[in-house]
Amino acid sequence: MSVMPSFEELGLSGPVLRAVTRAGYDEPTQIQAQAIPEALQGKDIVGASQTGTGKTAAFSLPIVCKMGPSTKPQCLVLEPTRELAAQVEDQMNLFSYYKPLNVMLLHGGVGYGHQIEALENKPDVIIATPGRLLDHMEKGNIDLSEVRFLVLDEVDRMLDMGFLPDVKRIIDQCPKERQTLFFSATMPGAIQTLAQWALNEPISVEVGGRQSPAETVTHAFYPVGMDQRDDLILALIQKTGYDSMMIFTRTKKEADTLLVRIKEIEGTKPTALHSDIKQSDRTKALQGFRDGTFNIIVATDIAARGLDISGVTHVINYRVPENPEDYVHRIGRTGRAQQEGDAFTILTADELENAAAVEHFIDQKIERKKLEGFDYAYTALLEENPQPVRKRRPAPKRRR
Ligand code: AMP
Repeated sequence: MSVMPSFEELGLSGPVLRAVTRAGYDEPTQIQAQAIPEALQGKDIVGASQTGTGKTAAFSLPIVCKMGPSTKPQCLVLEPTRELAAQVEDQMNLFSYYKPLNVMLLHGGVGYGHQIEALENKPDVIIATPGRLLDHMEKGNIDLSEVRFLVLDEVDRMLDMGFLPDVKRIIDQCPKERQTLFFSATMPGAIQTLAQWALNEPISVEVGGRQSPAETVTHAFYPVGMDQRDDLILALIQKTGYDSMMIFTRTKKEADTLLVRIKEIEGTKPTALHSDIKQSDRTKALQGFRDGTFNIIVATDIAARGLDISGVTHVINYRVPENPEDYVHRIGRTGRAQQEGDAFTILTADELENAAAVEHFIDQKIERKKLEGFDYAYTALLEENPQPVRKRRPAPKRRR
């Protein structure tokens, strides 16, 4: 039996409530139940929440509800990547279906012309990446003097990408009298300092462990010798009954090389997503992956954070991520909204320490599996208890 209050009980009303019904949401998620009533009362919020928990609706619904008529932008949402910004735009449009708002997207990688026109067209909501927004601000194309709602989303990612100084300059140009909603999966010192500066007596909202991946995901490591990494991943793809698969590589070059090899497998419809691919092709790749034109997407971590792609049945890591948090974000692409998902990670001897770090981070031992029928060359990794390979220290220089 559900004990979750209804959207109506959270205080949403009229057109926004109808839009929620139209979106097919039966009941609020936990973060929505916690954040919406507070946000409706005008409180600042600092939220930590796993991806896939309904965070976007948690901040968008109350804002759409509270927006009134204005000739200047009232709401500014900052996102670290173009893809995330586009995703928030979709949701804002969904939630303002019965209360039409002029929502505009502002990010780099595309021309200025259309953006300047759209800015002249009096947007109510601007969803932006920091760099391009600052460009427009410096050119005097944008007036933030009536922003009442400021959303800083995926702040830790913005920190990783070096955007914090830009973000501070943008916040500085927003009115002091405003409501600020702040979301970050982790809270290192620099982010706490930013939150203290940007927020006014915030309410804290935290859903689930910060580091727990979706519980519906089954994890497995596939140990293999280094020279068989590619063959194993290709065999794994062939033998796996997937509907939709995301493969994460560490580098753009790995993604490109792997894409070429996957194309050779019959039945695959692969594409790639990374930052060297031009924006229009990135949009096409993502759109095609969402609508089923592609059933495999090979991506670097740019695609890992927060992207909402439903129905991803499998995530494969080409290498064990060096940063255990990235593992959680990557596998956050599968097992969303209570669906089942599998996360496979190819494991080679040089990555045992990273693997142990991932297991420690998610507080779970990950099963080692062998792919049946694969012609393994011998590697000590396939033994029961392999020892981590110690990084070799350079030999001391000899004096002559
Ligand atoms: P997010 O964490 O904002 O990326 O949302 C993840 C997914 O959950 C998106 O596809 C949302 O449309 C969906 N979603 C958000 N809230 C609800 C809800 N209350 N009921 C069902 N699906 C939801």
